[in-house]
Amino acid sequence: MRAAVFREAGRPLSVETVADPVPGPGEVLVRVGRSGICGTDLHLTDARDPKVPPGTVLGHEFAGEVAALGPGVDRFRCGDRVFVLPLRGCGHCASCLAGEPSWCPSVQPCYGGYAEYAVAAQTSCFRLPDALSLADGALVEPLAVALHGVDAAGIRPGARVMVQGAGPIGLGVVFWARRLGAGHITVVEGAPARAALALRMGASACRAPGDCAVDPAAFAMGGAPDPTAPEIVFECVGKPGLIAQAIGHVRPRGTVVSLGFCMTADTLTPAAASVKEARLLFPLGYSARDFAVSAEALATGAPEPRLMVTDTVPLDRLPQVFKQLRTDRTQCKVMVAPAEA
Ligand SMILES: [Zn+2]
Ligand SMILES: [Zn+2]
Repeated sequence: MRAAVFREAGRPLSVETVADPVPGPGEVLVRVGRSGICGTDLHLTDARDPKVPPGTVLGHEFAGEVAALGPGVDRFRCGDRVFVLPLRGCGHCASCLAGEPSWCPSVQPCYGGYAEYAVAAQTSCFRLPDALSLADGALVEPLAVALHGVDAAGIRPGARVMVQGAGPIGLGVVFWARRLGAGHITVVEGAPARAALALRMGASACRAPGDCAVDPAAFAMGGAPDPTAPEIVFECVGKPGLIAQAIGHVRPRGTVVSLGFCMTADTLTPAAASVKEARLLFPLGYSARDFAVSAEALATGAPEPRLMVTDTVPLDRLPQVFKQLRTDRTQCKVMVAPAEA
């Protein structure tokens, strides 16, 4: 099969012919229909500090058709359309049985979507509802990340919310916050195309980062609380300094939710959080329920998340687009269609 392989940090992904993956016991072979390009993949292959070994085929936001069954597969047949929760748990510990493979002692990431075929455990596969396309199926993963974060924040009806960054995760947060009853939602985003998407997704207002910077080290106590300050700030950019900015924005006793998954060291001034008695949360991934609820939202007629998909490219163009996405903020979610030329 053809696959886009990570060979060396600082070099483009390499589209090659490699051996077809073979599904093991309890696994299915998925013919990949759509695979979303994720910011995490850009971080994992960072030129200065790659986090995956050479030879890795990335891609964890995928949906496709079951093409072959490993021994003992009893939940799927060839031809079933599935989307994949890209974590490989043991399948039988308490966390796996509760649909929370993130907490399985032997959890491994399940990559492989940047290829014609990928292998997934049958316990990680969900049947795609008839109303959904394979592109919808590949959108479920980022929507589930956003849902998990919004759920962790315990959003109350009418809550004032701020979202830093309108990439796919920030947009997903806007979508869920609006759907779960948020009040005013301010999005902080510098790229006009993404800001426009945020408004269509349900944001009340967008501001450029430069227009609402705060002193991240300020920690004066008391004073009249600002009634317009957000109760919850979602940090969805993942660059150093932005959790401190979020603490600066949040109202006293408010909540900061870190979803940006910044992989480099960051600093903040603890006293600036203490004087507000701010709550900092670092949600991880998703549960099977988050996946099911996200697919359900798409299947029951919520059109907005599909607006995030700004381009779909064949495998041959993936290396070039992957490189471009490191700097280009006019695109949002780009999907790969490995079976198409
Ligand atoms: Zn992702
Ligand atoms: Zn397990």
